[in-house]
Amino acid sequence: MRVAMIGTGYVGLVSGACFADFGHEVVCVDKDASKVEMLKSGGIPIYEPGLDLLVERNVREGRLSFTQDLTDAVRTADAVFIAVGTPSRRGDGYADLSYVYAAAKEVAEVMDGYTVVVTKSTVPVGTGDEVERIIRETRPDADFAVVSNPEFLREGAAIDDFKRPDRVVVGTNDDRARTLMRELYRPLFLNETPIVFTARRTSELIKYAANAFLAMKITFINEIADLCEHVGANVQEVAKGVGLDNRIGGKFLHAGPGYGGSCFPKDTLALTRTAQDAGSPLRLIETVVEVNDARKRAMADKVIAACGGDVKGKTIAVLGVTFKPNTDDMREAPSLEIIPALQKAGATIRAFDPAGTVEAEKLLSNVEFVSGPYFCAEGADALVIITEWNEFRALDLPRLKATMKAPVLVDLRNIYTHDQAGNAGFEYTSVGRPHG
Ligand code: NAD
Repeated sequence: MRVAMIGTGYVGLVSGACFADFGHEVVCVDKDASKVEMLKSGGIPIYEPGLDLLVERNVREGRLSFTQDLTDAVRTADAVFIAVGTPSRRGDGYADLSYVYAAAKEVAEVMDGYTVVVTKSTVPVGTGDEVERIIRETRPDADFAVVSNPEFLREGAAIDDFKRPDRVVVGTNDDRARTLMRELYRPLFLNETPIVFTARRTSELIKYAANAFLAMKITFINEIADLCEHVGANVQEVAKGVGLDNRIGGKFLHAGPGYGGSCFPKDTLALTRTAQDAGSPLRLIETVVEVNDARKRAMADKVIAACGGDVKGKTIAVLGVTFKPNTDDMREAPSLEIIPALQKAGATIRAFDPAGTVEAEKLLSNVEFVSGPYFCAEGADALVIITEWNEFRALDLPRLKATMKAPVLVDLRNIYTHDQAGNAGFEYTSVGRPHG
């Protein structure tokens, strides 16, 4: 099958490369000339484990290519995926659909023969109807179907998630489109991956409901962590005792500095807007959004408290600035709230991140980025772990402490224990574990 992937970001590039690996012929299109040039010359514009090898192999075997011009790719495609960004609209929290609609119009102008236009971007309920209307208006003669096929991959584990998903969701009432989608996902179908066929609006809502539930689960355990600190309980043990109940499950029960990233913040907000507009507000999710926003700010206060109530003139070493490990993605990362709040309180920040420095430098000012965790800690008044990269999990704590000015360790991901830190001579603060 021939696939055109419009938008070659985290989702488009991974999906495109994986479809090529399934044996389809994929052309990835992006408006960003520098991205396309880089891909054409063998580079990968994002950090995603395993993606370089997957792209290289499929390019070499002639199934994957890149272009800035969608005309040829769309004209010959059986399926055209729209995988462009749907960020929060500044000011009101609605999903900004301008990229999706612009892509739909461009696709409509050049499509030829029966074409399935698939919305892979996360889009509010009813967007498929509008995409269909735009295509119909642009090309009244066109033979096409608009399908919703939301993506559930996680950055950092994206290839595995795409190739071994818990389920694939396809929203359409068009029989021809359903057959084509089944064929596209054939390798997964053969693996007995559940493929959930629904109406388009239902499929669009599944994606938001899933993300809102996960964001709620994280926020739930974060509030339980706060309670643990007040009543002398250990949140990790609470999470374990709760999560072993199969009806609940242990995933997404790790207390931390609040969720961030390119999806949860914007998707929870957009869902609350959809619900308000429909006259059926989601008060639970509105509260999740509020609690999570407040939490990121509260984490800076936690660091200040660990430093004795004042960080003026102090140097704080930060390990990890991306919103989670194994990505260079900085969108809505907790560090973007915590670091400026510490700077505002008078601290100087030195930071290290294994992959996020280039992106972080665009978004944070007056931060000195250094090349490793030990160098980062040298002479610092406190060390703060914001992102739990694997390489931070087994640091030589005595060595770190020996070079620091004050022995303060704030572990916002609970990757150490009170005993480990205490034995190394640190005053240790974590999340929801007041006594170890
Ligand atoms: P991204 O910002 O990394 O990539 C979007 C790309 O689309 C950019 O490279 C941009 O240049 C390109 N683009 C925009 N308009 C275009 C056009 N008209 N023609 C060609 N290219 C165009 O975004 P992303 O993180 O890949 O997210 C894409 C969508 O997938 C969003 O709706 C997001 O919510 C959803 N999603 C993301 C993830 C994730 O982990 N990042 C997971 C699931 C779903």
